[in-house]
Amino acid sequence: MLKSEIINQLEDIVGKDLVLTAKEDLATYAYDGTTTWSHAPDVVVLPTNTAQISAILKLANKNGIPVTPRGSGTNISGGSIPVRGGIVLCTTKMNRILEINNANLTATVEPGVVLHDFNMKLASENLFYPPDPQSFLTCTIGGTVAENSGGPLCIKYGVTKQYVLGLEVVLPDGYIMNIGGSTVKNRTGYDLVPLFTGSEGTLGIITKITLRLIPKPAARKTIFAIFDNMSVAGTVVSKILASGIVPAKIEFVDNFVIRRIEEKMQIGLPVDANTMLLIDADGSLAAVESEADQILALLKEGGARIARLAKDENEANTYWKARSAGFAAIYSAARTVIAEDVTVPRDRLSEFIDKLDEISKKSGFAIVLIGHAGDGNIHPSVFTNSQEKEDLDRLQDTLTAIFEAALELGGTLSGEHGIGLEKKRLLSRALDPRAIDIMRNIKGILDPNNIMNPDKIWEQA
Ligand SMILES: Cc1cc2nc3c(=O)[nH]c(=O)nc-3n(C[C@H](O)[C@H](O)[C@H](O)COP(=O)(O)OP(=O)(O)OC[C@H]3O[C@@H](n4cnc5c(N)ncnc54)[C@H](O)[C@@H]3O)c2cc1C
Repeated sequence: MLKSEIINQLEDIVGKDLVLTAKEDLATYAYDGTTTWSHAPDVVVLPTNTAQISAILKLANKNGIPVTPRGSGTNISGGSIPVRGGIVLCTTKMNRILEINNANLTATVEPGVVLHDFNMKLASENLFYPPDPQSFLTCTIGGTVAENSGGPLCIKYGVTKQYVLGLEVVLPDGYIMNIGGSTVKNRTGYDLVPLFTGSEGTLGIITKITLRLIPKPAARKTIFAIFDNMSVAGTVVSKILASGIVPAKIEFVDNFVIRRIEEKMQIGLPVDANTMLLIDADGSLAAVESEADQILALLKEGGARIARLAKDENEANTYWKARSAGFAAIYSAARTVIAEDVTVPRDRLSEFIDKLDEISKKSGFAIVLIGHAGDGNIHPSVFTNSQEKEDLDRLQDTLTAIFEAALELGGTLSGEHGIGLEKKRLLSRALDPRAIDIMRNIKGILDPNNIMNPDKIWEQA
């Protein structure tokens, strides 16, 4: 519980209307996209500019108050849960697109800009910003930078960090620091921009972001394919990647997800299909046509029951809308859903799929699969019930088995969702101990009082 004088000072900084303390308001900031964690903050502040954020952090640092940064709260690793109470600092009021520079191919935005709003603005200028987490209708650009988010387009275009050129960050002591800039090349000392990109709100608050843009691809074709066996589909994905073609997206969903999506959207997906692959090729029209022909041939040779082009833009958009609805379809299917985020080298995808099947059979938990097949990034989603203690204990063993299987194949704990609260117990299995020490030391230098998003990424010493 914070002293009333702290609340009064926060009200002086941002104005009374932008400080929330009512129980009902606090309850709405107690959780994020994860279904296993929740903890209410003592207060929520909604600053409208960088100077206010600097003043809030100075106040919090002086009084040792934990600060949890928050965009839209869509992350699925527990990153924006204020586990120690204190202040939730939500950036959604800082939602201006400050500049789009068509000649330099850059944009500068405030952190609370919703990704979809940004994409709509860019489309009207024939520009393109590829990182596309499937929460794009809601998530903020600040949240995507703090998580170094990915999405379907990353197979060809890379993840968020490949587009962040410059940042304004408020450090835990309130200092406003500018790093990077607006040039595509910048080799000036250690590169701090990627350190803050993916720092999960533990090092400071990102208050301004300069992003690299690219011209919108001239053409796109979407391929729809159905397989009777997921592991076979995984092998074909590896063959496509080895063929020299780089599709813009290769996504897959399993039979459970196909049936759930069809139940919700009625778009005519074959509900008996074991696996659906959706593939996009983009670029110049001639290149796209040739790539699409080669991909179709590889899919058919590889055993696809159906492999065909979406007949028009409308049909392509319907398929991609269905894919975006995948998580919503899964989340409403059980009381507790743990959507994991492991990634394996792309040539080990098929082996990993077989291992997940074994783990599901052995544990008795239903594990449904959806993911970015082109990146080897799978979201095995485990259905359980957080009200049942026995289920939760067994769940931890099952999740550990999934992570171990990924690590044994040369994979990682998280491809794009981050460590947050969800995976910190396993960090030491995935990283060299010296690397963890270095990370802790960086945190200690920037945030000696440990006020910024404490308890995330690693267990506290
Ligand atoms: C349906 C669904 C689909 C998803 N699909 C994908 C996907 O395809 N790819 C993917 O990568 N992720 C995906 N996600 C995860 C999530 O949407 C992303 O991590 C997203 O980037 C989070 O943005 P946000 O605004 O909701 O941030 P939040 O969830 O509010 O915050 C995320 C983290 O960033 C920190 N943070 C937020 N803003 C700032 C700031 N300004 N400065 C410093 N730290 C900050 C928070 O403390 C927290 O640790 C999905 C989630 C859902 C629910």
